[in-house]
Amino acid sequence: MIAIRGATTVDRDCPEQIKECVKELLLELKDRNNLTSENIICIILSSTSDIRSYYPAKAAREAGFYSVPLFSTSEPDIDGGLKLCIRIMVLAEISTSANAVYLRGATVLRKDITQIYNIALDGPAGSGKSTVSKILGKKLNILCLDTGAMYRACALKCMYEGVSVSDETAVSFIMKNINLEVKYENGEQHTFLDGKDVSADIRKPEISMLASTVSALGCVRGKMVCLQREIAAKTSCILDGRDIGTNVLPNAKYKFYLTASPEVRAKRRVEDNRQKGFVTPYDEILKEIIERDNQDKNRKIAPLLQAKDAILIDSSQMTIDEVVSFIENKIQEKI
Ligand code: C5P
Repeated sequence: MIAIRGATTVDRDCPEQIKECVKELLLELKDRNNLTSENIICIILSSTSDIRSYYPAKAAREAGFYSVPLFSTSEPDIDGGLKLCIRIMVLAEISTSANAVYLRGATVLRKDITQIYNIALDGPAGSGKSTVSKILGKKLNILCLDTGAMYRACALKCMYEGVSVSDETAVSFIMKNINLEVKYENGEQHTFLDGKDVSADIRKPEISMLASTVSALGCVRGKMVCLQREIAAKTSCILDGRDIGTNVLPNAKYKFYLTASPEVRAKRRVEDNRQKGFVTPYDEILKEIIERDNQDKNRKIAPLLQAKDAILIDSSQMTIDEVVSFIENKIQEKI
């Protein structure tokens, strides 16, 4: 069972407004969460004490929620609290995560849900960015965009076409015709190249260095950055990469730079690879990580760099959960 929150406000305390706003909120909650009379267990409604002319529960009944148990209550008067506000909690038996709905004046209660915002999470290879952003994305109910996957797909395309990733002329030709798409299935990012899901292929260890080399080219970055900005403008999301806070979204509301010592990162990468079925010696991975750091930090265009206004997190001695809680707290402080 899950609890789904919602709230709205009315302009005036009159029955017509209450009926209209409760109906609007309930239908929106129903729509966004695939609710049916079978999967709703009950609906709890509360309203601020300045709402007196009509029962919100009665309005819910009239909006078509006949067979669902309803309970309506009045909230205490709190100084500075939102006026003329109706809050709803739906308890339902659904297997997906809850999509809260905040409408009209109530949008101020949950800016994190009602306003588009972006989180930039930059840092070197193996610092834990993708794991952290996947967990945070789920917790905050926002999209995660692994921008490294896009550069990896560009490298894979060059490999398929037999083109050297450092041959700018040949790569720029490929970039003109590349068909790269990012899609989401059950909240998981899938990267498609020419219509084929290459999410597993781009994770092969040999692609990492090729991606780093190809990502230094202006023709590649220009195209990828455009795609990234397009996605970030449409929806709240957390983008992990190297240049999100400095270049892709310099105005992102939240910026973090996640790092760890090369040794710790190499150890983590060896373990990640092992779990994906690749056996990679520690020394080789450490060497590659140092080489990739150098290449990413020293390239001319959009190098790996901590943005001035990004919060630095050294995760060498931290667990993933500790990093996630740290970021969550920083976000809550600023919302
Ligand atoms: O994060 P991941 O290891 O998948 O990234 C692969 C490569 O793509 C990095 O080494 C980096 O050179 C490049 N990249 C980038 N800018 C980003 C994300 C990744 O240049 N925003």
